Amino acid sequence: MRIPEIYREGQFGLSIEIFPPKSEQGDRVLWSTLERLRGYAPAFISCTYGAGGTTRTRTVEICREIHERFELTTTAHFTCVGATREELIDWLKYASENGIGNIMALRGDAPQGQESFETPPGGLCYANELVSLIRENVPDVGIGVAGYPEKHPEAATAEIDLANLKRKVDAGADAVFTQLFFDNSNFFRFRDAYQAAGITVPLIPGIMPITEFARIKRITAMCGAVFPTELASRLEAVQDDAEAQFEIGVEYAISQCRELVDAGVPGMHFYVLNKSQACERILDSLGLATPVA
Ligand code: FAD
Repeated sequence: MRIPEIYREGQFGLSIEIFPPKSEQGDRVLWSTLERLRGYAPAFISCTYGAGGTTRTRTVEICREIHERFELTTTAHFTCVGATREELIDWLKYASENGIGNIMALRGDAPQGQESFETPPGGLCYANELVSLIRENVPDVGIGVAGYPEKHPEAATAEIDLANLKRKVDAGADAVFTQLFFDNSNFFRFRDAYQAAGITVPLIPGIMPITEFARIKRITAMCGAVFPTELASRLEAVQDDAEAQFEIGVEYAISQCRELVDAGVPGMHFYVLNKSQACERILDSLGLATPVA
């Protein structure tokens, strides 16, 4: 199923983001995670595209395998990093030949060792250009793009960032999936501005359940997500107790997701970091999806 059809049907669109594992053990963990989460009937599974284009073909291979093993819809992430326009077009052909029906179109971040994103020679500068390239070359594919309730770290102001987000939608994106956030009030403010800017495609909040405090601190520092002080203090108080951190994280995510569902979001995009336990607890508690026995 393509992204626009998923949300057009008026059903809640649960999506799950995974990344290509780097070891055999990681592989085993991923497949058992998907085996468990498939029972929640996700609308799609999305697979990231490695920083620096390191997983160029791997993303497509994993998406194809997910579809073959579980008959689930997939979305392949794709970035502008390290590729010329021609190489990007080659990848689009390759993805299309391998049955990819949805693409998450991103600019990407600087590869390791490089301070900021640099436009590759003969390549693209921004995700809106990638959306246009996709629409020109594979017109029927579903396209998701990234949105930032707390502003993209490089953008001078939230208003400029929103105008840039609109460019991606005007270029043909079908839905916006947000960066992870913990403070719903920032999401609601962003949603108001989004609607006021005349953006009408579905806006899907991105949720990362906290399972390890140290890891989430690294991730939020990288992506610029605001970490609520009260939540940080609660987690700091149990910094030597992994189980307690997990419980606090899950409990927080459940109440965060419940408020978002009550506020009428059309779906939810879970960053599960290739593990299922927290996501299962949240979905069970919200009754958002019925696990298939
Ligand atoms: P853009 O939309 O191009 O925005 C980048 C910056 O440029 C912003 O500050 C924006 O305001 C500004 N800008 C945009 N367009 C213009 C313009 N036309 N003129 C001037 N300024 C402009 N990264 C990966 O490497 N692989 C992944 O698989 C991946 N998946 C992701 C999935 C989601 C749902 C999200 C939210 C992020 C993901 N990322 C991924 C991270 C993403 O690549 C980074 O956040 C990156 O820094 C910006 O990507 P973008 O597509 O939002 O870029």
